[in-house]
This record gives sequence, structure tokens and C-alpha cells, in this order.
Amino acid sequence: MFNSSLNQLSTLLATKQVSSIELTRDFLRNIKNLNKEYNAFITVNEEMSLDQARIADAMIASGEGSPLTGIPIAHKDIFCTKGWLTTCGSKMLSNFISPYDAHVIELFNKAGTVNIGKTNMDEFAMGSSNETSFYGPVKNPWDILSVPGGSSGGSACAVAARMAPAATGTDTGGSIRQPASLCGVSGIKPTYGLVSRYGMIAFASSLDQGGPIAKSAADLALMLNVMVGFDARDSTSLQYENEDYTRELKRPIEGLRIGLPKEYFAEGLSDDVSRAVDGAVAEYSKLGAKIIEVSLPNTKLSIPVYYVLAPAEASSNLSRFDGVRYGHRSEEYNNLDDMYLKSRSQGFGAEVKRRILIGTYVLSHGYYDAYYIKAQKLRRLIAQDFTEVFKQCDVIMGPTSPSVAFSLGEKNNDPLQMYLSDAYTAAASLAGLPGMSIPVGFGKKNRPVGLHIIGNYFAEAKILNIAHQFQQVTDWHTKMPDIKKL
Ligand code: GLN
Repeated sequence: MFNSSLNQLSTLLATKQVSSIELTRDFLRNIKNLNKEYNAFITVNEEMSLDQARIADAMIASGEGSPLTGIPIAHKDIFCTKGWLTTCGSKMLSNFISPYDAHVIELFNKAGTVNIGKTNMDEFAMGSSNETSFYGPVKNPWDILSVPGGSSGGSACAVAARMAPAATGTDTGGSIRQPASLCGVSGIKPTYGLVSRYGMIAFASSLDQGGPIAKSAADLALMLNVMVGFDARDSTSLQYENEDYTRELKRPIEGLRIGLPKEYFAEGLSDDVSRAVDGAVAEYSKLGAKIIEVSLPNTKLSIPVYYVLAPAEASSNLSRFDGVRYGHRSEEYNNLDDMYLKSRSQGFGAEVKRRILIGTYVLSHGYYDAYYIKAQKLRRLIAQDFTEVFKQCDVIMGPTSPSVAFSLGEKNNDPLQMYLSDAYTAAASLAGLPGMSIPVGFGKKNRPVGLHIIGNYFAEAKILNIAHQFQQVTDWHTKMPDIKKL
């Protein structure tokens, strides 16, 4: 059951071989047994989950179910969830019970899924290792001495350790794809604007995008069918026709043109990751794909550009946490300024403060043109690189992360090294393109390796098809860590 696909669970539920209550209890039991060790969940509320399971069972009994009705889903703690503690991994929101649902949560509720718990994450989604969370780091289930990746590390860990069949995440510069890669599961960040940001706590609004993490591409397609949808409350939500993301899964990929950017296989890439990615590319050749070398000349700029723009937007977005309307407020203060100062000093962790400082600096009078405007111009160049390359090939492939999961604490004191974790993922975020990661093997110390697949705008169905075809002939996505307590 814990290895079943979403489709299989859906069939079991529809044919009444299992009820949503039973399924929910089973996953809650796994969480109970494993969460102490992995720390993947910040909040679990058995009663509220079981209430939703009861509703789901009634929906199924009355024939109102849809494909995911009754299936437990874990939600990243960045999504406002009515009646649930919603912390965004921060002390600042450690007392915040959301009075409303994010659009994504509304859609999952409408589909009749069960919220199985809120997953741990880097504070305000800033990080690549989950170590910036106020609630402590998540452990990688493949090796508890290593990080699960970030910032959606709790979601990736929950799926890898079978504490949830699938989960939601968000990705600003790599936070769905990188943890999926490090935990040996699949994840997709859709085209910017397809998933509403309403109720998704803002980090860098021009980059933030919600998406799913699951065991396979076929499962991701079913999750996207629920998550994608226009929402007038998000000004950048796209009025794009609702699609069925499963529709192209079965198409053969013969003749597909795969572009391998030479910049993605250069200095900085570990040998073990390179080997596994090469193996996956060879598999694609066997499936009839044509491999072409391409170039994204501005690749090197993506990390510097990202680390000007994302902190700039974060410094603005996080100004709302002032200890007045909601969130942490210092117990002692002398006047209003002092209250802001103390509340924010106590409520935010070191990485968040670093970003606020960088962001405030690059937006300040006199530096705005030199940093922020310059970065916006370079962002355009990075996006244009992709436009050029998509004239030569249908998709782009490469490694998701330069290395396999690194050890806990290894990069904590070196923010620049940490930032390089997104060297291959940030560019697609800056361009607003869809990207996904699927497991394609193991590297050093038996830690998973992910393949990064970038598609053109709105090519979600196509990249899911490409990933699914690979998963039909390989079994990397079925491998699971050695978890004794299941
Ligand atoms: N690791 C990147 C950062 O720290 C990306 C995070 C994300 O995508 N939310 O900003």
C-alpha cells in the first residue's frame, strides 16, 4: 500500500477495498513512527485529518468522488490552511493559525483529499538544506546524516519515507526540484503563473511557484490536475485553459530532441552525479531520442542574479511581519520602533535576516540601478538563452543538483556554497519555465541523483510524458530507503 501509485490508491478507494479513514490512519501511523527521527512534519492533527477522511468517504459513497478523493496529501507549511498552524518554518509565525485557505488548499479540499499534515521547510523557503527551519532540520531518509535539500525538504522526505503518498511544495529557485533530487523522488515546478500564489506565504513573488512532489511522473500529473487553475486573487495567475496533465503520458518519445547545455556539465559538477545523468541520457537514446549539445551562455549569471532579485523581493514581502497584525511580538519594548526592532530581531532567523539586509541594500537609493535594475536586465538575457535553445531542441536535460545530498552542517557556515546548490535550477525559475526532477540513480554513499528536465512554457504535459516514458523502462523511482519501522 505504501508503495502504491496515486492511481492504484484511487482504484482501491473507488472499489471500496479500502476507506479513506483506513488509509489516513495508516499514513498517520507511519508519521507517528517515523517523524521523531526525520522531523518532516511541523504539525500533525489526527482529528482534523480524520474529519476530512470521513467527508471523503461520504463523497465516494455518493458517487461525487474525483481521482484523488480520499487520498492523504502532505502540505508544505507555506500554504495557509484554515484552522491549522501555518508557520512557514519561522518563529515569526509560530503562533499563527490561519483564518483562511490558500487557493491550492481550497482546490485540494474540493477534490476531497485529506490533509495529512504540514511539512517542515526552510524558514520562509530560504535555503537549500532545510537547516534554516525554526523547527530544526529535516533528515534525509536515505542517510540521516545528510540533508534532504530545501526548501521543500519536509515534503520530499515525507514522500520518500512513505509518510504521505504525495505532497505539495513551492519553488522559487529550486525548492521543489532540489529536495526531490536529494531524496530520490519526483517533483515538478510548473510554468510561472499556473498555480495561484494566493495564501502561499510570499518569499520572492516574481519567482514563487507551487507544485507537487510525488513518487512518479504519473502521480505528479494527477496532482497538477488539482493544483493548476486560474485565481483572480493572484494578479499573476494565468487564464490558461485547464488541461489534463495525464493526457500525453503514454506517447512514445521517438525522435524527441534533447538538448544538453554544455554549461551544465562543466566545472562544479560531481563525478558521481555526472555518471548517473549520463546513464539516464543513454537510456533516452535507447528510447529513440536525439541528443544535441546546446549552449546557455548566461548560465553563470543565474546565481548572482537570483541572489539580488530574490532578497530584494523578500525584503519587501517580509516587511509585513511587524508584530502588530499577526505573528511574534516581543514581550518587552519601549516604543513603537523598539517593538518592531525587537519583534523582528527575535522572530526571524539568521538566513532570513541576511536576505532582508541584502535586499534592502540592493533596493536602496543609489544602488538600485547598479544592482536591482542590472539584475532585471540580466534576467531577460537568461530567459532569451532558453528561447534560442528551444529553437534547436524540444527539452533540456542536465543534473538537478551539482552533488548528491551533503552532510548536515556541512555548508551551514558558508552561505555562498549553499547558494550554489541551485546552480542548475535557478535559471528556469528566473525565466518562468517549467522544470522537473526525477530520480535516475545513486552517487556517493548511496545517495540519490536527480535528472533535471526543463521544458518550454506550458510544456508540463510534455515533460511529464518524457519522464513517464523513462519510468516505464527503469525502476529508479520505485527504489525506497531502508525504513525499518514501516
Ligand atoms: N535555495 C534557494 C534559496 O535559498 C531557493 C529556495 C526556493 O526555491 N524557495 O533561495
